[in-house]
Amino acid sequence: MYIVMLGAPGSGKGTAAKILAKKTNLPHISTGDMFREQIKKGTELGKLAESYMSNGKLVPDEVTIGIVKDRLNSDDTKEGVILDGFPRTKMQAEALDEILKEQGKKVDIVPELIIPDDVIVDRILNRQTCSNKECGAIYNTKYKPSKVAGVCDVCGAPLSSRTDDNEETIKNRLEVYRENSKDLIEYYKEKGVLTQITPKDPTAENASEQAVEEILSAKL
Ligand code: AMP
Repeated sequence: MYIVMLGAPGSGKGTAAKILAKKTNLPHISTGDMFREQIKKGTELGKLAESYMSNGKLVPDEVTIGIVKDRLNSDDTKEGVILDGFPRTKMQAEALDEILKEQGKKVDIVPELIIPDDVIVDRILNRQTCSNKECGAIYNTKYKPSKVAGVCDVCGAPLSSRTDDNEETIKNRLEVYRENSKDLIEYYKEKGVLTQITPKDPTAENASEQAVEEILSAKL
């Protein structure tokens, strides 16, 4: 099962993707996480990605498609994957179809998380992520706080905020999402795989769990 999660930054698609990955036993592939890992390691790719990420711009398609192609050639992706943050442009979507086609596979379902803008901004500004890469649990100081401030409930590692989660870049990231997602949504609508998901209470602590239940009951 090849699943592409769509949704604005802060829509909760990352959290939903992680839950879905656990429930379906499929690998969670987040291009944002992959770039952040490269930045941490100080690689050339990381330096290049950072120059775009730091002001909310998209990393060029060729670069992004390249890292996803490599990842999708790994053995653990043969039963399917949960893609989170990729594709973000129509060109990336077409490239993904090509990569999967070569393997006799296709995108099966594209859940799009629909969340009001004010909730999104609030979520991003209050977002905290576990600094332990193996864990990566996501919290929100307002909607989903950790039990002990600044400490992960799951593994006890310190929580940190993403450097691009600030008011200046949020506006740009939301604009970039709106601009690029129009084509993407149309693309997947035409293929009959788009499923719009609107959590009943997007501010609830378990909003992402609700979204995942909706996704699972929609088509899988
Ligand atoms: P995310 O963690 O998905 O919010 O991504 C953080 C940042 O990484 C984005 O604002 C982009 O700069 C970059 N990025 C992640 N995925 C992609 C992609 N598919 N195409 C281009 N840039 C990306």
